Amino acid sequence: MKSLWNEAEAARYKGELAQRVYSSRLLGADTSLVLHGGGNTSVKIKEKNLVGEEEEILYVKGSGWDLATIEEAGFSPVRMGHLLLLAKLPSLSDREMVKELKTQMTRPSAPSPSVETILHATLPYKYVDHTHADAVVTVTNTANGIERVQEIYGDQVVIIPYVMPGFDLARFCAEKFAAQATERTIGMLLMNHGIFSFGATARESYERMISLVSLTEEYLKGHGAWNKSQPKVAVEDKPVRHTLASLRLEVSEAAGFPAIVTMHNDRRTLAFVGRQDLGEISQQGPATPDHVIRTKRLPLVGRDVQGYVEAYFAYFAEYNPTAKENKTMLDPAPRVILDSELGMCAIGRNAKAAAIVADIYHHTMDVIEGATALGGYQALLGKDIFDIEYWELEQAKLRKGGTPPMFTGEVALVTGAASGIGKACVDALLQRGAAVVGLDINPAIAELHKRPDFCGITCDVTDEQAIAAALEQAVRAFGGLDMLILNAGIFPLGCPIDSLSTQEWRKVMAINLDANLIFMRECHPLLKLAPQGGRVVVIGSKNVLAPGPGAAAYSASKAALNQLVRVAALEWGNDNIRINSIHPNAVFDTGLWTEEVLTARASHYKLTVEEYKTNNVLKVEITSRDVAELAAEMCGPLFAKTTAAGVPIDGGNDRVI
Ligand code: NAD
Repeated sequence: MKSLWNEAEAARYKGELAQRVYSSRLLGADTSLVLHGGGNTSVKIKEKNLVGEEEEILYVKGSGWDLATIEEAGFSPVRMGHLLLLAKLPSLSDREMVKELKTQMTRPSAPSPSVETILHATLPYKYVDHTHADAVVTVTNTANGIERVQEIYGDQVVIIPYVMPGFDLARFCAEKFAAQATERTIGMLLMNHGIFSFGATARESYERMISLVSLTEEYLKGHGAWNKSQPKVAVEDKPVRHTLASLRLEVSEAAGFPAIVTMHNDRRTLAFVGRQDLGEISQQGPATPDHVIRTKRLPLVGRDVQGYVEAYFAYFAEYNPTAKENKTMLDPAPRVILDSELGMCAIGRNAKAAAIVADIYHHTMDVIEGATALGGYQALLGKDIFDIEYWELEQAKLRKGGTPPMFTGEVALVTGAASGIGKACVDALLQRGAAVVGLDINPAIAELHKRPDFCGITCDVTDEQAIAAALEQAVRAFGGLDMLILNAGIFPLGCPIDSLSTQEWRKVMAINLDANLIFMRECHPLLKLAPQGGRVVVIGSKNVLAPGPGAAAYSASKAALNQLVRVAALEWGNDNIRINSIHPNAVFDTGLWTEEVLTARASHYKLTVEEYKTNNVLKVEITSRDVAELAAEMCGPLFAKTTAAGVPIDGGNDRVI
């Protein structure tokens, strides 16, 4: 492991807290040290308060911040004096501790200080760094982990047996540290949990972390237990979308909410799930208790979701101490599925959560394989893990944020998503919490959004094979399909029937009509598996109701599409799939309308562009966002009991009326 410290870069971070920001980001940049909000850092700074007294303040990472992207505002300033007094108390409940920490913050708007604040305060060093380094948790999750870390570190680190995070751990560490630390001590190791380093400067503390973790990596390499190269396993790639969507339905039913499921079948993962001993090594427990709340204590091996749920009930019943406060069971659905065909499936309440689970489990595979090579992976399980999973502070984190957006955990696919109405539909659906797959012939679709809940796929909707491949990719990205927005379409230049070529006619039909039949046919089996019922919205046109001269192919294609929608509504009601249409007119902020066409059309009617844009009964301009909002709402509860409807969005058109 190499130090990423760059003196020139570091010099740009002026002041003790800024230095804390810089080195925290260095730790956060290495996912083998900390993952997604994991790890903790702090610095103790002397400051003058408003009445001129000098106070020592502990700036400790606040909850909700990630080390990789932390800023000064992400550190909570807490008065050291009070923290050291708290550390001397014989006991302190978690709830009281959280309250006390908040009362001692010098900036009320700062994020809540970490539950490890008191532990950081008791360590007598200016900078304190804490990670869950893969190498360290690999060694400590073995039967004789303590002897191994003693052999690796000698008296450089104080070793602490596992104690649940919180006040008791802080007290225990403070006592052990005072009794065992020498001037050679540069770190502290918490069994089955992680490692601390400390120093007088940000650089010293950071580089000690790197050197401590490197020692363990060297040890693992020396024992043939640090094989991070990609094993060569062929990826057999047959379509799995129907299998995956059924599995997602089962998982969602067990969870009680629609879940996002992401599939990972890279070579490395397939090598892991293909191991003969998978059933044993994967059922020992998580690499660090920090992961339990995201990944659940154990992955499901195979596809028996019901069996997993029963085992979860039994586990809960075993440890649920009825005498204690009323602990209600979390949902019993798995968060990781290991399957020889599907590879690893990561499950989350939304795409971001599923992405975090996937990252954690990718690292867990390295840890488990390393520890197995050392002689056997042996992690915390049983009561210790139950106590973390049902720890009120962790559960409070899960509950944070109030009611989730309407389409949380659901997956939508939009065709023609790179521009105009389709692009606006992507935004409207993302905003309502859905994971969205956007398809377009324009390759710019791949770059439309860089976020875990969006997947842009280049696809010509007239190519059946490309559609099948895109659906396969979409389901592998998010687990299934709940909502389909059929939007891709073209509006060719005006042409009277007597000069309309067969080629032109067929081209319009291929995109505006035939492609939609293929989507409907191919998506039907997936929509049937939508946990809350499938929904389809078709972008039709005013031309269905009021065709225009010179638009024969377009009007005919949209009218035929309208009839297709009505038949689908009749056929799919039993499958709990509803399908409705929107008939927009004159949506000018789209690719169909260039400035040039707009000016030409306006002058044709002897209107200004402004008059032409609002040339309807209500005298309003229709935007692609207006259409998209309606499309999104049609997938929601407002239209729960409506199918085969066609809703105009045209400001009132006298020919339609
Ligand atoms: P737009 O041109 O901005 O968007 C259409 C998108 O479809 C583009 O990104 C385009 O690349 C994509 N597309 C075209 N051919 C494709 C293919 N073969 N495969 C994949 N993607 C393809 O236009 P828009 O106005 O947003 O159109 C969207 C829908 O709205 C169309 O079905 C159109 O008929 C309908 N509509 C638009 C208006 C309007 O005034 N803009 C009015 C009524 C209906």
